[in-house]
Amino acid sequence: METTRCLIIGSGPAGFTAGIYASRADLKPLLYEGEQPGGQLTITTEIENFPGYPEGVDGTAMMEDLRRQAAKFGTEIRSGYITKIDLSHRPFTATDDHNNTIVADTVIIATGASAKWIGLDSERQYYGQGVSACATCDGYFYRNKIVAVVGGGDTACEEANYLSNLCQKVYLVHRRNELRASKAMQHLVLDNPKIEMVWDSRVHLIGGTPEQGVTHIELENVKDNSISTLKVDGVFVAIGHKPNTDFLDNQVELDPQGYIKQQSNTTQTNIPGVFAAGDVCDPSYRQAIVAAGRGCMAALDAERFLQGL
Ligand code: NAP
Repeated sequence: METTRCLIIGSGPAGFTAGIYASRADLKPLLYEGEQPGGQLTITTEIENFPGYPEGVDGTAMMEDLRRQAAKFGTEIRSGYITKIDLSHRPFTATDDHNNTIVADTVIIATGASAKWIGLDSERQYYGQGVSACATCDGYFYRNKIVAVVGGGDTACEEANYLSNLCQKVYLVHRRNELRASKAMQHLVLDNPKIEMVWDSRVHLIGGTPEQGVTHIELENVKDNSISTLKVDGVFVAIGHKPNTDFLDNQVELDPQGYIKQQSNTTQTNIPGVFAAGDVCDPSYRQAIVAAGRGCMAALDAERFLQGL
């Protein structure tokens, strides 16, 4: 068993920024990187909207810099993830994936969010055989091939744009006739000759063979219910994210969409001493810069909480 004044769970911009601030406040934080070290930015392409990088920055490189900065000030960064945590009384007791026990005076939850799936049996069947949720991870396998991206938000547009540089053709399948993505991202997609929009359509089935993997998708037009088929070699699902809160086992109050609720204008959850930052508690902005800012706030809130004891 080991003890810490501040346990940080997660290693995206929120977790590492919390680490930088908590270590500079001498809390000697212990940070668990989680199942996806570096978080979602490590599977994105170039980041063009993080202030301070006028030429853009590679997501993995930026997270490596953040990691080094947190470590430099004394954050103890550990591979692995927290499998369960008892928040019923303080100090809190967490268990990691190697069955180690950590007793923490404060906890900062910065576990982010994971890709959502459409929920089709055929999607599960062909996962890794033509179905993916990460163009930067898997796009390489589809060079000069035809793919479909599903979704209408920034992620879907970003994935479609990235894939257009590798693939022969990209269909962007959206369930409405208007994109949710930011205007800048919409222009990138709508002006790209290799991307063809498929409006008002839902993926009804992903078809293929065990040997070839995905060969086609069946689409249902939401206006007239007609079914059509598109020949594709791969499908990239980009329909949003789900906050990673399962390990909390409903001990922390969540909103109806599953995001952690916070006390007004702080990072405090309903449990004194437990704070949250980043996409795990942000249903509306979900930007790296916001997550970093909230990570800073969480560390300051944890420090003030400990001072007030
Ligand atoms: P999002 O904004 O929630 O968009 C999800 C998209 O998927 C929507 O167009 C939605 O359709 C569609 N969708 C949801 N469920 C679906 C289903 N079951 N079947 C078919 N389509 C479905 O998610 P996101 O694109 O992942 O973006 C998340 C956040 O990250 C946003 O705040 C975004 O701005 C941010 N982000 C920013 C950048 C950037 O700035 N470079 C890059 C990526 C993400 P409807 O439109 O009909 O609801």
